[in-house]
Amino acid sequence: MKIKDILSNRRTISFEFFPPREADGVPTVVDVAGRLQRFAPDFVSVTYGAGGGTRAFTEEITMRLKRRGDMEVMAHLTCVAQSREEVHGVLQRLQAAGIENVIALRGDRPPGTEDEPPGEDEFAHATELIQHIRANFDFGIAGACYPEGHTESISLDTDIAYARQKQDLGADFLITQLFYDNSHFYGLLDRAAAAGITIPIIPGVLPILSTPQIRRFTSLCGATIPSHLDARLERFAEDNRAVREIGIEHATRQAEDLWANGVPGIHFYVLNRTYSVSHILTDLHIGGHGGD
Ligand code: FAD
Repeated sequence: MKIKDILSNRRTISFEFFPPREADGVPTVVDVAGRLQRFAPDFVSVTYGAGGGTRAFTEEITMRLKRRGDMEVMAHLTCVAQSREEVHGVLQRLQAAGIENVIALRGDRPPGTEDEPPGEDEFAHATELIQHIRANFDFGIAGACYPEGHTESISLDTDIAYARQKQDLGADFLITQLFYDNSHFYGLLDRAAAAGITIPIIPGVLPILSTPQIRRFTSLCGATIPSHLDARLERFAEDNRAVREIGIEHATRQAEDLWANGVPGIHFYVLNRTYSVSHILTDLHIGGHGGD
């Protein structure tokens, strides 16, 4: 089923997984997704390594989850550092496997090649990939957007103009980058409305697991950690269990506020762990097909 059709009926809960580095980790990811089935996610997704290496595992996990038959699956697909032909080939395989949804992304060039311009046979931006998918396939399409702006964007307004292009070229909905202060998400909604974006925008929520890890993630993706939260993370920087509990508490409050404010869904970056997201969903009594 296309996710846009699910979104037209109910608010969604979704989980994002990432592929392992080695093939023998594939069953573990499939198992983690299976264990979270008790929350009846409306869809799950598997990230795609823009730098290569794990791409085959992404396809394999995506297809295995689809074959289970009890969850809707969205494939992530990035287009940097791959030719148009290669990207087209991935889309053909996904289609042949019965995958109906794709999130179309640019991705980041592998380390050491960040400043290289895209090759002539590459899609330069997610917008080009979205256009290609819409013209050649029948997938439901999602795109990414950024409550605090993308790291390379000149301004928040430019960023939102490209998000609008994603809608115009065929994206059905958008999922946001992680953020830790909901006011950034509500600001994005205001800018999106002013720019004429009418497709659903689903907030992405990442429950914090460790202080150094979240500092690394946020510095890479340009998100910020509010000072009161950062102070607590600093205090327990050596104690991952305590930080995980802080992460659950913060993400629960974020999700509660987002849900109360009528978001079309919440996409959890679960980092292949079940503990935090299970606590959050149990505390909130959401999930299990809607929970509205
Ligand atoms: P784009 O939309 O192409 O945007 C990149 C930059 O270019 C922005 O600054 C934008 O303002 C600008 N821009 C956009 N369109 C144009 C245009 N037509 N002309 C000129 N400038 C333009 N990364 C992975 O490697 N694998 C994943 O599976 C993955 N999944 C993600 C899922 C979500 C929900 C999100 C939010 C991010 C994900 N990422 C993933 C990270 C993403 O690949 C990076 O943020 C990347 O730097 C940008 O990807 P994009 O699709 O937003 O690119």
